[in-house]
Amino acid sequence: MKTAIEPFKIKTVEHIHITTREEREKALAEAYYNPFALRSDKITIDLLTDSGTTAMSSKQWGALMDGDESYAGSVSYYKFEDAVKKITGFKHIIPTHQGRAAEKVLFSVVAQGGKTIPNNTHFDTTRGNLEFIGANAVDLPTEIGTRPEVIAPFKGNMDLEKLEETIKKYGKENIPLAMITITNNSGGGQPVSMENIRGAKKILSKYGIPLYLDCCRFAENAYFIKTREEGYADKSILEICQEMFSYADGATMSAKKDGMSNTGGFIATNSDDIAERCRTNLIVMEGFITYGGLARRDLEALAIGFEEVVDENYLKYRVAQSKGLADEITAAGVPIVLPAGAHAIYIDAKSFAPHIEPKNFPGQSIACEIYRVGGIRTTEIGSLMFGKEDKDGNHIAPPMELVRLAIPRRVYTKSHMEYIAEAIIEVYNNRNNLRPMKITWQAPYLRHFTCRCAYL
Ligand SMILES: *Cc1c(COP(=O)(O)O)cnc(C)c1O
Repeated sequence: MKTAIEPFKIKTVEHIHITTREEREKALAEAYYNPFALRSDKITIDLLTDSGTTAMSSKQWGALMDGDESYAGSVSYYKFEDAVKKITGFKHIIPTHQGRAAEKVLFSVVAQGGKTIPNNTHFDTTRGNLEFIGANAVDLPTEIGTRPEVIAPFKGNMDLEKLEETIKKYGKENIPLAMITITNNSGGGQPVSMENIRGAKKILSKYGIPLYLDCCRFAENAYFIKTREEGYADKSILEICQEMFSYADGATMSAKKDGMSNTGGFIATNSDDIAERCRTNLIVMEGFITYGGLARRDLEALAIGFEEVVDENYLKYRVAQSKGLADEITAAGVPIVLPAGAHAIYIDAKSFAPHIEPKNFPGQSIACEIYRVGGIRTTEIGSLMFGKEDKDGNHIAPPMELVRLAIPRRVYTKSHMEYIAEAIIEVYNNRNNLRPMKITWQAPYLRHFTCRCAYL
């Protein structure tokens, strides 16, 4: 059979809100043309993020009742630990309430005192946590990784030549660890090849620097290795995951992604010393070492989530769902970052609305119009999120102007995807009517979350 079906059926349904165009126009004005400020009951399809928006399975909901809410030594923790160890093989598994907490605790141990941490591309919380303690976050994407139109199988890779240059520039004693983010979220959700992980490990070993994976989407990355990298077609997803992690010395994870749950995360490491110091800081920052800021029932849901996410049928559906949407809109001419990743589709706003200059936020204008047409919430990733001004007030644009359509796991069906495609194509066909925008109020940092916008 060629048709990729949802490998689940529906037992509980959640009502979604269908609004009129007038209601959406009013909601948008009340949100000051910033989709982040929309109330979710004014949204029909929410593609703001794939983080913590997963639909849990009936097995996971059932397991919540098995949660052993003991403060210390909870049996639920040991189930969670076993599930993570089976996939990663790491010696120490330390739970946290979400990914950024794992980063905060780990960096509080290893990155104090102006240390440098290279990464293929740091996610914004990873960079934020490092810069917050005065450390230096260095991004080393490959050249093709920053070009939306180039089709290549592993555009999330780290530039290994630049990795070696970075080590020489800053000195191995100032680099406590290097990271690789799988898949490369800020780089368009593109995967990293096994060859690249292995190559990075080889270079780092020469200098005695440990490798940590930011492994939020490890299963999606493994599926791309299976289907795109030579030599992996006959390996199981679990085997591929185990090999990826075998090259690493530790990991941080937001289990709100491939943990298939609504909250959770962990730090993993093979170092007894780092584990001991992380656990000490965990108790101050998160909670006791067998729950780390989570209710123990959440650990139960996660233990099952880690089993469900390495199911190849699930991953096949997940990737086919994103690719289906990408194929439908690209056939109508909509420019996107190619090839489609698993967790999100990124519209290339610069080519979509070339008549709007980056300083007038083409991505935000597209995101507002997609909401106006279909009640669909997306997010701008471009000048609104990352743009800066020089001292003369000139706009400094980031390299890409994107609109992200993040796909929650197991939430939307094929007809929802068709609806999304129809709305985007309608906005594209009327793209000449998209209007430039400006910011009328902004916070001193992370302005995109709360800023107010208006049309020029
Ligand atoms: C989501 C994410 C994080 C942060 O995790 P939170 O659970 O949102 O705190 C870190 N790295 C990557 C690559 C992510 O996608």
